[in-house]
Amino acid sequence: MKILVINSGSSSIKYQLFNMTEETVLAKGLIERIGIDGSRLEQENQADEEFVIEEEIADHTKGMELVINALIDQEHGVISDVDEIGAVGHRVVHGGEYFSDSVIIDEDVKAKIEECSSLAPLHNPANLMGIEVCEELIPGAPQVATFDSAFHQSMPEKAYLYPLPYEYYEQHKIRRYGFHGTSHKFVAERVAEEIGEEFTDLKVITCHLGNGASVTAIEDGESKDTSMGFTPLEGLMMGTRSGNLDPAIIPFIMEKEDLSTEEVDHILNNESGLLGIFEESSDFRDIESELEKGNKRAKVTFDMFNYRVQKYIGSYAAVMNGVDAIVFTAGIGENAINVREAICKDLGYLGVEIDTDRNDMRGKVQKISTDDSTVDVYVIPTNEELVIATDTKELVE
Ligand code: ADP
Repeated sequence: MKILVINSGSSSIKYQLFNMTEETVLAKGLIERIGIDGSRLEQENQADEEFVIEEEIADHTKGMELVINALIDQEHGVISDVDEIGAVGHRVVHGGEYFSDSVIIDEDVKAKIEECSSLAPLHNPANLMGIEVCEELIPGAPQVATFDSAFHQSMPEKAYLYPLPYEYYEQHKIRRYGFHGTSHKFVAERVAEEIGEEFTDLKVITCHLGNGASVTAIEDGESKDTSMGFTPLEGLMMGTRSGNLDPAIIPFIMEKEDLSTEEVDHILNNESGLLGIFEESSDFRDIESELEKGNKRAKVTFDMFNYRVQKYIGSYAAVMNGVDAIVFTAGIGENAINVREAICKDLGYLGVEIDTDRNDMRGKVQKISTDDSTVDVYVIPTNEELVIATDTKELVE
């Protein structure tokens, strides 16, 4: 069965077409700048051949039409007819308290995704748009939604409630939800396979360190706590998001800098984190290259990032009363050798011992702890699209 995986954003559509008989990617692509000047589609096939279409893409319907055209293109395409797409899997950011697993999309599911839009105003409406356009353009294919928040629905009350007036939870659903769930679950299951133990028997701390970043505590095969909360703003220092801070800072800077709620929200989400401290870039590679040149601001940015990850690992080992495995994943976790080393070097009290030779690699599944280390530390590249395709296949079959 061929499954199309869609990640529809407000001005972009990312897609991958899987052949699920062999679990291979037939083609993957990206549309950028929908509704903005300079929109384009880029697609790569299995032979890494690039196909680019540059034309005005006014809306998501036009965007999906181009995706289908690129997939069935006589020269660069990978299928001959849209009917070959057996099902479509969609990444949906927020499933609120409704979804703890992937689901087949029907009218009720769409209404609930819409209802959760107030919790994820930048993401859910765009995700829903992708679903509706696919219903129109690929009418024969069942559609499945996989939620970023679903895996964390197992968090206990003590972890998901905020110590605010309880009525805010009841009336406005203000609680911790957590995100990156698909990635945390995937790498935790994968590390259990690597170690040769049952997933449900392990205490795992997964560190998804990308542009967005979060840490999750997993026990009995369930998420028990995670660093992102009501929105993806809570937790670690990220590319441009502040992560945790004293909430009193918000009214304080609003008054000092005469900021509106929209402006302060923008600063916390888009101008803080690595970018806020380093100032030149939010890209970790830029920080690393300046670090090598002895740039002091790069050094403090690097130290702050790692320090905050260390604090989460320590607190999650505490609440689980131990940890069997720690996993690093996503852009920084998979590639930044010095980040992994810096984070793990102070975890000796947990029994973590890193093998610097094993750690000296990027982007592949590898154990990076020594054989004597009491905690197994691994790098596991994440693959959220494959999880969505797998869930979609299971549900439609
Ligand atoms: P997202 O999917 O959240 O946009 P990614 O998981 O792609 O993010 O991670 C992006 C981050 O990973 C960026 O900060 C980038 O600099 C970092 N990164 C990617 N490759 C490397 C590398 N080789 N070394 C260090 N950092 C890297």
